[in-house]
Amino acid sequence: MKDPESQKMIVIVEDDPDVARIIEQVLADFGFRTTWCRSASDLLRRLRSLAPDLCIIDLGLPDMDGIEVMQRVRAQSGCGIVILTGRAHVSDRVMGLELGADDYVLKPFEPRELVARVRSILRRRETVNSPATRQLATFAGWRFNLGNNTLTAPNGEEHLLSTSEAELLKVFVNNPNRILQREQLMGSRDVSPTDRSIDVRISRLRRKLEPDSESPAFIKTVYGAGYLFLATVEWPSESMT
Ligand code: CA
Repeated sequence: MKDPESQKMIVIVEDDPDVARIIEQVLADFGFRTTWCRSASDLLRRLRSLAPDLCIIDLGLPDMDGIEVMQRVRAQSGCGIVILTGRAHVSDRVMGLELGADDYVLKPFEPRELVARVRSILRRRETVNSPATRQLATFAGWRFNLGNNTLTAPNGEEHLLSTSEAELLKVFVNNPNRILQREQLMGSRDVSPTDRSIDVRISRLRRKLEPDSESPAFIKTVYGAGYLFLATVEWPSESMT
């Protein structure tokens, strides 16, 4: 099997060697390159040199809270992040998504399910980062660089968006002033009626975009229908990026 996935580096951050081995094995079966980090400090020390495309992070690590690990990774890297957690509490999962994870998988998990999530995130990153797509969108003084997921405020402040946030904003800037249903905003992901992740992503984007999150100017909620991105979007030529 020779496809682009074989070039992808997946880092597994997990203190349980048995779990790590299972994940490495199934990812290897699908042609991914993998590295196992047994602790948060191990990961953070090697993050730059490993340059992962995606990190699978166990929330229950011995040396650092998984949520904090995730935030540190997010601050340094635009890689995909999947949270692995044995904690069945919804709040942990929501907090993980809230803080920049792209998806989560609950332990015990079905290895193929994990691979499916990983592949889905990597595919979305490909689409979002594809050089074939238009690179720079501007609206109301904001600049969104689709090539590197950077959102620049009118005052010059830069936000590095997670893959999920960038994917969401990409849908918005490509479809301004139209009501978009949750399914359209979720892309290829399966949506269940109880899935809150889209709302979490919306609120994260709003916090970056909206000076007054109580009365959002760009991302409007259309009750019972979905969301609407209210803006005049322009696409300056690529030479200007
Ligand atoms: Ca653990």
